[in-house]
Amino acid sequence: MNQTAPVDTAGSASPEALLARIFGYNAFRGRQREIIETVVDGDNALVLMPTGGGKSLCYQIPALVRSGTGIVISPLIALMRDQVEALKANGVAAAVLNSSLDAQARRQVERDLRDGNLDLLYVAPEGLLREPVLAMLEGCRLALFAIDEAHCVSQWGHDFRPEYLQLGLLRERFPKVPRIALTATADERTRAEISRHLLADGGRTFIDSFDRANLRYRVGLKDNARAQLLRFIQNEHRGHSGIVYCFSRKRTEQIAAFLYQNGLTALPYHAGLSADERQAHQDRFIGEDGVIICATIAFGMGIDKPDVRFVAHLDLPRSIEAYYQETGRAGRDGLPADAWMVYSLADIVQIRQMQANSSAPEAQQRLERERLEALLAYCEHAGCRRPPLLSYFEEDHPGNCGRCDNCLNPPETWDATEAARKALSCVYRTGQRFGAGHVIDVLLGNASDRIASLGHDRLSTFGIGSDLDRKTWQSVLRQLLALGHLQPDPAGHGGLQLSERCRPLLRGEQQVQLRRDTVPVRRTRAAGSRVEIDTNSPAWEALRQWRLETAREQGVPPYVIFHDATLAA
Ligand code: ADP
Ligand code: MG
Ligand code: ZN
Repeated sequence: MNQTAPVDTAGSASPEALLARIFGYNAFRGRQREIIETVVDGDNALVLMPTGGGKSLCYQIPALVRSGTGIVISPLIALMRDQVEALKANGVAAAVLNSSLDAQARRQVERDLRDGNLDLLYVAPEGLLREPVLAMLEGCRLALFAIDEAHCVSQWGHDFRPEYLQLGLLRERFPKVPRIALTATADERTRAEISRHLLADGGRTFIDSFDRANLRYRVGLKDNARAQLLRFIQNEHRGHSGIVYCFSRKRTEQIAAFLYQNGLTALPYHAGLSADERQAHQDRFIGEDGVIICATIAFGMGIDKPDVRFVAHLDLPRSIEAYYQETGRAGRDGLPADAWMVYSLADIVQIRQMQANSSAPEAQQRLERERLEALLAYCEHAGCRRPPLLSYFEEDHPGNCGRCDNCLNPPETWDATEAARKALSCVYRTGQRFGAGHVIDVLLGNASDRIASLGHDRLSTFGIGSDLDRKTWQSVLRQLLALGHLQPDPAGHGGLQLSERCRPLLRGEQQVQLRRDTVPVRRTRAAGSRVEIDTNSPAWEALRQWRLETAREQGVPPYVIFHDATLAA
């Protein structure tokens, strides 16, 4: 039985009154008020607002003001449950309809719905699209449909859900019920896809500023990434909650184990863990202070934890959009938070190769390449981080934010035209099949048996780069790769090739300014930066004990936080 009666909105229930009475806030933020008015008036709306911007109120309040039940479509069961609990605690009659309900609970929800006793009903798209459910809804009084995480309709995004495409049928089946689609993904194409599939009959679009003013963006070069991460957390985020994004499942486990060995509470999260483990780790992250989640991209969408103080990328994300979304999970409470990333030439090669081997349609591949290019340009950018980041969302930013790494510590740039030409001709002369290490050896004139046997010591480019050191050449090659003058060979052997874009540079028609890399301070290998996991060590034993204890405390089967198999490997 649903204990809460629908909110009494007869008479004086203005949006402001509800904001104060139900949610306890005294003012709307940004464009919330306008959005709410639009939907209350029965019009459709497309809402693009960054993570943490306050999208939920934009449908919750209209659902309370209008008569009937507001149907909220969301892809995440965990998220629905949390929101519904929070709403009920505030006296709103809210319920979830999903596969986790038993038959009796389900019947109760259906009865409440038919009797008009629900303000809000949360449902996953696949649940909503079942014919009996649609038929039942046709017999009910509905306030609105809210389609949350609406970017899931985009076939070219990484959160694509096929059922989202079918939500277009709501227009025909419920022509009188307004729809509001919400997302934190705002690039032009995704926006167009949402409008086309979900709001084909029109509606107003609301775009909030995507600038997350409280985030401090920092991008550095990898130089023993784990040690860098550990130093960052120990120096700046002791006891804080954070998320560390990694490229692979295995790496999330290794990094979690490494942080744990160094005294931090870190848990892995990836699609290879059982649903129970994922839930348990997520619950701890949300419920406890100072838990660090080491995750693949499987983690984060819809997780509403306001006080995440840092998001770290230990590997380059696939696109600027993914980077924006993932960093956006930090500092939702508006207090200062860090978006920290380290990357390397190897990251660029790895992602470019993955893209080259993709079997996706050509148009999609091109889009993915562009999204990566935008990210690389952002990484190598020498000015304020905000203009390149926000320009991706079609937003202008004056720069000089005063909070990003480049504003606080402006990087030096140098005229690298000559160096770039030397590097490009060396890649060309060596046959466009060798990796950066070999190319640099030839540039530096390092004679070795291998170089001699290839005849590369007789090339005109042998030794032409001896005026610069290895680190500088690495930096030049990385930036040429990031800027698209070089590309990895499509066969995936790690060789570098010239790309179309480098021609003007080679012909001397273009100048190139590159950043001078600041060499990270290298600490001598502290005991803490050991990376191998010794299963006979006291640390391992402590970890095992802690795992068992935690399992006992929480009354769950002793699921392991780290997979022994992975660690033993
Ligand atoms: P989104 O879905 O856009 O990521 P949420 O709707 O989850 O964001 O809101 C993020 C946080 O901001 C929540 O804690 C919410 O209660 C809070 N919030 C939303 N609107 C307001 C407001 N007008 N005043 C104060 N806090 C707000
Ligand atoms: Mg949300
Ligand atoms: Zn800045």
